[in-house]
Amino acid sequence: MLINYKTYLIFLFGSLAISIGLQMLLPWPFGLIAALAIFIVFPLFLRNRALKRMGGMGTDAGSSGGGFFGQSQGVKYICLACNNRFKGGTCPRCGSKMKRADF
Ligand SMILES: [Zn+2]
Repeated sequence: MLINYKTYLIFLFGSLAISIGLQMLLPWPFGLIAALAIFIVFPLFLRNRALKRMGGMGTDAGSSGGGFFGQSQGVKYICLACNNRFKGGTCPRCGSKMKRADF
């Protein structure tokens, strides 16, 4: 989730830069409309991608063995705050995102 938030910020600032560029390139109403469209579409696009990734991890971790997805789901993490071993983004015991991979 931390990575998603970072990419969200990068996209937000990127779309801000693009929208400023559009204001200069396009005449007034079209530049504003295009900028608004970017601000609406980018977060929706990112959210859909994040939801798909979370849904894929949550539903069938065991059934899809092998391949890229099977590998990424097999990684376990150790929480740096409470040393709890867990799968997924955040520690279920203390909610910390600070973690290291356990192989
Ligand atoms: Zn923890």
